[in-house]
This record gives sequence, structure tokens and C-alpha cells, in this order.
Amino acid sequence: MLAHSRARTRRTLAPFFAGLGEPAYRVGQAEKWIWEGAARSFDEMTNLPASIRAPLAKAFSLTPLAPDYVARSRDGTIKHLWRLEDGERVESVLIPTRERLTLCLSSQVGCALACRFCATGYFGFRRQLRPAEIVAQYRDSLRVARDELGRPISNVVYMGMGEPLANLDAVIDSLAVLHGGFGLGARRITVSTVGLIPGILELARRPEPFELAVSLHAPSHDLRLQLMPIEKRYPLPELFEALRTYQGYKNRRISFEYTLIGGVNDDPALAHALADLARGLICFVNLIPFNPIPARPEWRPSGPAAIERFAAALTGRGVGNAVRRPRGRDIAAACGQLRLSTEAGEPRT
Ligand code: SF4
Repeated sequence: MLAHSRARTRRTLAPFFAGLGEPAYRVGQAEKWIWEGAARSFDEMTNLPASIRAPLAKAFSLTPLAPDYVARSRDGTIKHLWRLEDGERVESVLIPTRERLTLCLSSQVGCALACRFCATGYFGFRRQLRPAEIVAQYRDSLRVARDELGRPISNVVYMGMGEPLANLDAVIDSLAVLHGGFGLGARRITVSTVGLIPGILELARRPEPFELAVSLHAPSHDLRLQLMPIEKRYPLPELFEALRTYQGYKNRRISFEYTLIGGVNDDPALAHALADLARGLICFVNLIPFNPIPARPEWRPSGPAAIERFAAALTGRGVGNAVRRPRGRDIAAACGQLRLSTEAGEPRT
């Protein structure tokens, strides 16, 4: 049921309540619980008589996620490992800053794209998430945000486990629910991709101004091939052509995410290569020191001097950038890390 728009929820519930002989206002009561109260079960809908909660639960699912593990960082970041109905597990992370409360959510269980620096890529692909399972991460996090942090979620980023544009239909359905159902502004929702061109073009053609972020990490063919196998399928020149098409439709700034790995991709010459690729695009680069993962013990984050050199090289070429402080390091908050560490039997924070 959650995978529908709010209007569709209403249209589904209306004949159901009528069939039970219940007055029409019950529809509004249930709808309010589902969309505004973020109810996880029909039993929570206490202003509905118990006699109708049971048939509701029999007829519809609210797609519950069970919190398998919750980690709370000293910096306020809260990470959930959710157990799905079939026992699979995905992560989402609430990241509070002074201005925003951002939810980073997952779009797949695992990921097939095997980026070398990514804990999720290390698992391989398990299955696609359904739209309701994506939305349920938001719905259940909304509760935690209200109860523990005393504020609503202001932004959503599809940057958790999985490549959102490899699960395009479900992601588009979930975007419709977050935007049209829960009323989250399209500009507060960012879809992040490693560069799946058909999905980028599909987003370009959509009417809503969702934000686009591209995980770049390597601005040359050889290096990208080494770090991100997607280079074989969608090489850099084609990716940037698609981004130009995207910007032609949207006229929106594109963000690039660039994880800085010491001695691997932090040479200032690569910053120049990135600036060359991005010439003519309105863009911004987020520089993120690499969050070490057990699968790559040889890799370290770039040091402060190397980060500064890289950032200065971008700035010198007119490319706006900022260094993002990693959040939740003490709780393995980077995508896939918590599941990786729990499956590897590491102690939980
Ligand atoms: S970085 Fe994203 S696309 Fe690459 S393996 Fe990890 S989850 Fe998949």
C-alpha cells in the first residue's frame, strides 16, 4: 500500500471501508496514520475500532522493516540496519547537521557494480528493493527523527546500498511517494549514481527537479576502469555527454562525489582532468576522505595536505568544491560498512 501515492491510498481504502459498512471519514483517519503518523502497523491506528484493524491488516501490508541493529555515533549520526521480510538486510543513515537532517537510504540489497572502494560492492548483488521497502526506510526513520532528534527529515539522498538507477522503476515509484505522498520537496531529494546513462536520461525527462549527484572518484579512463568497472559500459566521455543533456533539460547544478584515497586518486593532475571533463557544466565537487573498509586494508584516506592540494587545483580551474567531513566514522556509517562488519563478526559499536 505504501508504494502508492496518497491519492491512490485513498482510492484503495474508500471501497474497502465502504465494504465493511464504515463511514467515509475512516478513510481520512487511516490515511493520516499512514502518511503523517508514519504508522508501522494497523494496530497503532488507535482511533480506528479494533474490529476494522484486523481486516485491514489481513488485506494490506505496511511493509514493516524490523530494526536489526541501530548504531548511534558521537556526532549524532544514527545508522539502522533493517531486516526485510525475507531476512535480507539493508542500511539507512540519519545525518544531522545544524541546517539539515538528511536521510541516506538504500535502493538495492547489495550491488552488482563492484566499485573497489565500496563495502556494498564487496557483497555482490542480492536483490532489488521494492518501492515500498525504499519508502519504509523513510517512514521508519521519520519516527526516529521525531522521537530521538526532535526534528523532521529535511533531505533524502539515494546514496546507501545499491545503485539507484539500476533499480530505476522502483526508485521512480519511491520518489513519487516521498515527493507526492509525504510531501518532501523534489529539490530536497538527491539521486546519486555512478553513471548509468539510461537512468540519467530518464531522470532528465521527468518533470520534477530532483537533484542529481554523480559518484565520480576517477576522472581518467584507466583509473576509473581500475576503481569502477562501470567505465567499461559507460565510459567517461559518454557519461559527460549524458550529463550535458541532463543539464540541458534541467538547468540544475550537478554534484560530483569524489572519494580521496591516499596515493590512488588524489594527484592534482587528476583534479585538472576532472575540471577538463566538467568544462561547461554547472557543477560542484564534494571531496570525501576515504572511509577505510576491511576489504581494502591497503587503502587509506588522503592526508590533509593532499586534500588541500587537490581542492586548490579544482578551485584554480574554477570548479567549486568542498571537503566533506566523514560522519559517523565510529559506527561504520559509510554505505555497506555496518552490514559488512556485522557479517564479518566484528564487534558492534
Ligand atoms: S559505490 Fe554504489 S554503485 Fe559502486 S558498488 Fe557501491 S553501492 Fe554499488
